[in-house]
Amino acid sequence: MTSDHAIDPDVPPTGPGCADCDAVGGWWFHLRRCAQCGHIGCCDSSPGQHATAHFKATGHPVVRSYEPGEDWFWDYAANELYDSGPDLAPPVSHPADQPSPGPAGRVPSNWAETLRR
Ligand SMILES: [Zn+2]
Ligand SMILES: [Zn+2]
Repeated sequence: MTSDHAIDPDVPPTGPGCADCDAVGGWWFHLRRCAQCGHIGCCDSSPGQHATAHFKATGHPVVRSYEPGEDWFWDYAANELYDSGPDLAPPVSHPADQPSPGPAGRVPSNWAETLRR
């Protein structure tokens, strides 16, 4: 990984959904967790791309998947994927009954056509 200080295993996640989408009533496809400050942001296929935006705004380089059953890490600075990494403070994913895309009630019916590529 880029550097040890990029990961703080003791910081809990900010919540079950993308913090920035929640602020503006948006929706997301998949979620990523900042390994340094716990910020939950949405993936690059999501309209908001808030996980990448968080890296650009803060310089926090490492995210972990926040999807149930996934434990990979992505290092923006090194442009590298890691199959696993340190155990982070729970919860390690959004609630299993929270849909992807989510959250319930905010996803447009044509969401699949609006995913970014
Ligand atoms: Zn978002
Ligand atoms: Zn962060």
